[in-house]
Amino acid sequence: MWPDGPTCLRCGARGRIGQLDGATTRIGTYKCYACRKIFCITQGTIFERSHVPLHKWLQAIYLTDGGSKPIVPYHLARIVNVSFKTATTMIEKLAAAAARDGAFGLDRRHRGEILRHRDDGEPTARSLPN
Ligand SMILES: [Zn+2]
Repeated sequence: MWPDGPTCLRCGARGRIGQLDGATTRIGTYKCYACRKIFCITQGTIFERSHVPLHKWLQAIYLTDGGSKPIVPYHLARIVNVSFKTATTMIEKLAAAAARDGAFGLDRRHRGEILRHRDDGEPTARSLPN
C-alpha cells in the first residue's frame, strides 16, 4: 500500500517494517524495527480504536457514499448487524469525516487500498473478532 514500502507512522523509518499477521493480531498491524513500536494503518483515522469490525465500516461507507449520503441509523443497523446506538455513532463519524476532509480521515492511497480489499469479496477483517 506504500509505493516506497511500508513507512513507520511514528518515526518515519522505511524498510525495517514487518507485517504482523498472527491470528490474534488486528489486520493492518505492522511493527517497526527502528523504533520497535507497533502501529496500525488505521491509526489516526476514524477506524482507530473502533470496536466495529472494518468490514462493517466499509459497508457503512458504501451505503452512505463515503458519509455524504444520509441513511437512517435503523436501516444501517439492520444491514451491517450492529446496534442502533452503534449505527448512530458510525453515521455521525462518517458524516463528520466526510465534511472535514471528504475521505473519512484516509488519504487516497489508504482509501484505494481498503476499497480494493472490499472488492475482493473476502472480508479483510476476517482475523478481527466479530
Ligand atoms: Zn518507527
